Amino acid sequence: MGPGQDRQSLADVVRILPCKIIIHVRYQNSINYIFSGVKINPNFSFMAGEKTVVIIGAGIAGITTSIYLSRQGYKVTVYEKNAAPGGRCGQITRDGHRFDLGATIYLMPEVYRKVFESLDIKPETLFESTPLPTLYNICFEDGTQIAFTPDKNKLRTELENIEKGSFSKSEKLVREGYENFQLAVENLLGRNFYTLSEFVTLKNALMLLKLNTHRRHINYIKQFFKNDHLRKAFTFQNIYVGQNPYEAPALFSMLPAAELTEGSLFPVGGMFSITKKLVDIAEASGVRFVYNSPVIKILTDRRRASGVVLENGSTIKATVIVANADLPYVYRELLPDQAAWNRLNRKQYSCSAIVLHWGLKKTYPQLEHHNVFLSASYRENLRKIFRDHSLATDPSFYVHAPVRSDPSAAPAGEDSLSIIIPSGYLDEGKNVSWTDLKNEARAYIIARLKKQGLTDIEENIKFEICYLPQTWKSVFNLTRGATFGLGHNIFQMGYFRPSNRHKKYKNLYFTGGSTHPGNGIPLVLLSAKLTSERILKEQNT
Ligand SMILES: Cc1cc2nc3c(=O)[nH]c(=O)nc-3n(C[C@H](O)[C@H](O)[C@H](O)COP(=O)(O)OP(=O)(O)OC[C@H]3O[C@@H](n4cnc5c(N)ncnc54)[C@H](O)[C@@H]3O)c2cc1C
Repeated sequence: MGPGQDRQSLADVVRILPCKIIIHVRYQNSINYIFSGVKINPNFSFMAGEKTVVIIGAGIAGITTSIYLSRQGYKVTVYEKNAAPGGRCGQITRDGHRFDLGATIYLMPEVYRKVFESLDIKPETLFESTPLPTLYNICFEDGTQIAFTPDKNKLRTELENIEKGSFSKSEKLVREGYENFQLAVENLLGRNFYTLSEFVTLKNALMLLKLNTHRRHINYIKQFFKNDHLRKAFTFQNIYVGQNPYEAPALFSMLPAAELTEGSLFPVGGMFSITKKLVDIAEASGVRFVYNSPVIKILTDRRRASGVVLENGSTIKATVIVANADLPYVYRELLPDQAAWNRLNRKQYSCSAIVLHWGLKKTYPQLEHHNVFLSASYRENLRKIFRDHSLATDPSFYVHAPVRSDPSAAPAGEDSLSIIIPSGYLDEGKNVSWTDLKNEARAYIIARLKKQGLTDIEENIKFEICYLPQTWKSVFNLTRGATFGLGHNIFQMGYFRPSNRHKKYKNLYFTGGSTHPGNGIPLVLLSAKLTSERILKEQNT
């Protein structure tokens, strides 16, 4: 589709009639209008006949959906169980130290840009950002380090030092991975699938083959590199979405490819500054946020959801309800449908994570902004997480050290570090002491950081804030404490991922990581876009 045709499709997408809006979505091309500069008119307001929306949860997907809908004339109220917005893109502050509570990596900047542009928001007006010359430093236990960087000359040196000829192979890998990323965003992740027949087509079957969904990521990477460190360096990114690189489909080679192609930046003020700005924009569009207000029930009659009940006992009626709270939790706790929950309970879930936030008395220049420490028993580690739903005593982990690019994250001369340790999720069938596992992992991590030159780190920890799998469950209602929600295997993607609308209650929608297209901030932004598109199509005709 050429640019001229893109413009033309705006008229196809949104036709404005007096007092009424009819949305004509070309489903098969919906991504084209997301990513071609054509967008839902942000300034247009129509008489929605008192159409009201209740959104359950002020995560990134809930906030973004509220912007789309309020700008189309809906009266939107967001009820959030916690005292602040952002959910897994929230923030913790203490004694002048600031920590991103969950998300720390600004992945796939192009997806952010294009979603924001569809709302007439220029990302550069959202926040100030610092480009990161090194995406992350990958440290192996034998002392090998790889600085993963989009700077080709530097990357060449890094890779060639480890395996001769590996740089040119990495270029092929990244080129193919990025093409697949674009193809996936356009045809799989960035569009709604309303019917099975839209998903199961010859064209899509060929696309899924091209996207390498039938191959394991690790096996695919073995074609490119002999060296085990390089194989790990190009696959560990599966853990970003809670997957085991030894089991995930090779489609996810798009993750390092997108990072190496698009580069990375860091929003000054942390990832939470994205949340804050989106809330400001939503409020300016008329959205009302009500905090400390858990929803405890979604009211339903025959084929519709009529409202919600809050923990304080009040009932709020609405024309449309959007649940941003994690989808399996909504089916289990807020809806009467036990059979649907049973089906969801049988699905595959992503891993969880133990997170330690440390306020430190001094800065550690030995660390980059993002640091990945891979254990010598990496594969066994992953087995412990994904098969045993537990944690090894010598786990792989990641350290976020934002002060290097954003000094405002800690008092002058001090440091704020967040240590993320992927772990198993809460498994009712297993008797796991997460506190004991955390203590063992913590001792190992301190020893490992000492080896890295941070010799006095332990005595400089002023305070520690710890999130265990059960914390994720209790604070954000994440089923099993699975930090990345439902897993992303090929049987849980596209049409096969739980739909963004309830099958029976036709005005109850879902947005966020456990519905289509998946987890990670870029994908939940897309989710908000797709859910809003569906609501406008289905509720306004
Ligand atoms: C440790 C960790 C690291 C991560 N790292 C990255 C990263 O580097 N980059 C990246 O892109 N992504 C990352 N992610 C993933 C990313 O944070 C999530 O995919 C994204 O924030 C999910 O947004 P959401 O809107 O779907 O859900 P959530 O953020 O979970 O928001 C849902 C909201 O609903 C609220 N809620 C729940 N139940 C109720 C109720 N009954 N009533 C009212 N409100 C309710 C919750 O409190 C929450 O605020 C990470 C996640 C974690 C946990």
